[in-house]
Amino acid sequence: MKIALIAHDKKKDDMVDFVKRYKDIFQDHQLFATGTTGGLITEIVGLKVHRFLSGPLGGDQQIGGKVAEGDMDFVIFLRDSLTSQPHEPDISALLRICDVHCVPLATNLASAEVFIKALRSHKDSE
Ligand code: PGA
Repeated sequence: MKIALIAHDKKKDDMVDFVKRYKDIFQDHQLFATGTTGGLITEIVGLKVHRFLSGPLGGDQQIGGKVAEGDMDFVIFLRDSLTSQPHEPDISALLRICDVHCVPLATNLASAEVFIKALRSHKDSE
């Protein structure tokens, strides 16, 4: 599966911890991320990640483009809902395009966890 990972600044530690915790699952999939998030995952967790531009510079839109083309299977987007973001329109557009194309979208750790556990049980049943 192609999985996109995006985390706002205050959520980056959560994202890195999450990917680290489920590294055994993530390593079986193709990972994509916005620039800074992807850099941290590669550096700290040691997984290969295709990096798009940083979110505020258009990375969310690039991921949205992949979703629109049917080229992304799952998006984990850990948003900081307590801080206003300069690229709010891009964020809304990404959420919208996931809904339009029925692409699973997790915007918090609890929902990301449910999805990743589903992937794990699928792997275990093979
Ligand atoms: P970043 O982008 O991973 O480059 O920080 C995420 C965002 O803030 O949208």
